[in-house]
Amino acid sequence: MRFVIGCKPGEAKLREEKVAIIGAGPAGLAAAGYLRCKGFNVTVFDMLPEPGGLLIFGVLDIHINKPKVKEGIRELINMGVEFKQCVKVGKDILLEDLINNYNAVLIATGTWRGRRLNVPGRDLPEVVDAFDWIFQYHLWKYMYRREKPMIKPRVVVIGGGLTAIDAVHVSKWLGAKEIHLAYRRTRQYAPAGPRGFKEAEDEGAIIHELLSPVEYIAGPDGHLKAVKFEKMRLVPRPGEKRPGIEGTGEYVTIETDMAIESIGLVPTPPFEDECCGIKLTKWGTIDVDEYKRTTREPVFAAGDVSHGPSLIGPALKSGLDAAKAIEKYLNGELGWRK
Ligand SMILES: Cc1cc2nc3c(=O)[nH]c(=O)nc-3n(C[C@H](O)[C@H](O)[C@H](O)COP(=O)(O)OP(=O)(O)OC[C@H]3O[C@@H](n4cnc5c(N)ncnc54)[C@H](O)[C@@H]3O)c2cc1C
Repeated sequence: MRFVIGCKPGEAKLREEKVAIIGAGPAGLAAAGYLRCKGFNVTVFDMLPEPGGLLIFGVLDIHINKPKVKEGIRELINMGVEFKQCVKVGKDILLEDLINNYNAVLIATGTWRGRRLNVPGRDLPEVVDAFDWIFQYHLWKYMYRREKPMIKPRVVVIGGGLTAIDAVHVSKWLGAKEIHLAYRRTRQYAPAGPRGFKEAEDEGAIIHELLSPVEYIAGPDGHLKAVKFEKMRLVPRPGEKRPGIEGTGEYVTIETDMAIESIGLVPTPPFEDECCGIKLTKWGTIDVDEYKRTTREPVFAAGDVSHGPSLIGPALKSGLDAAKAIEKYLNGELGWRK
């Protein structure tokens, strides 16, 4: 997988300006490739032990060729992109320091936290967040971590997105014997779509549509023994793509030993609250304009942290668009947003 898009390595003279990129996922890597082609000094800061972001530590290898991703990263290194791994911006180094020491900064830190359900029993040890659990699986699989992630014989996955489908796969691979997938709408309105649900069924999962969790029930030993759901019905919403849902007042329980919540991801900028004059939107994404400029000069933002959870393609494009805007900005052809 190549991250040098829209330019040729070595096509431009070397420049003095330095660009810091925070996040080595597809958005950060596409931006790094373009800016290095254009001669800029590019340093990528990333909190993980190796670059790639979710391409290495999230997307399953049935969906992506990881050796090809690593090949693309090696190409960037050979072109002179500098990678600083195991550096968490906001903790090991401050964003304000990068702003002071670089001519432009690009934030591409993705959505590194799972949204959690607010229902009784959610703190039971067998109730886990899908994003974190799949990340732990990758750490274990690629030997950064010795401990295998938790797995139990019976698993309920809650959600209807790609991460929920991946949680079904990983549950099966880790040895679960009975896997349920529960979603509050029907598959036709799920982010993973009928194709994703078919993938889960092919893996042996039992699909439950129109169920919304209301409680995790513990046994006398304090461990999860069932999930209680309310049955839902679809409610037409004129003008909207998807119908709404409402409770029917009827309940079912599914007995299980483990529950995996996969109900969405939260944008994770590299700072607490609003730092350094950088505004967030009401969805927690970084507020950017059409040139990916944030509300603080010279900081740009791209990828899932700026447009919310999406897919590899849009993240690559967003990183590339930001890189082109940074080039214009450093050439003096683009001012700052008012
Ligand atoms: C489990 C899972 C499966 C998926 N499967 C698919 C799929 O099959 N196909 C598809 O198209 N899309 C898939 N996606 C979505 C896709 O992976 C993302 O949309 C894409 O990776 C987003 O790219 P990004 O560059 O914005 O962020 P990311 O890939 O998330 O990269 C962000 C990078 O920023 C780093 N970072 C975060 N905070 C800091 C900090 N404070 N300091 C330093 N570094 C930091 C992280 O370490 C990471 O390397 C999947 C997502 C998940 C969660």
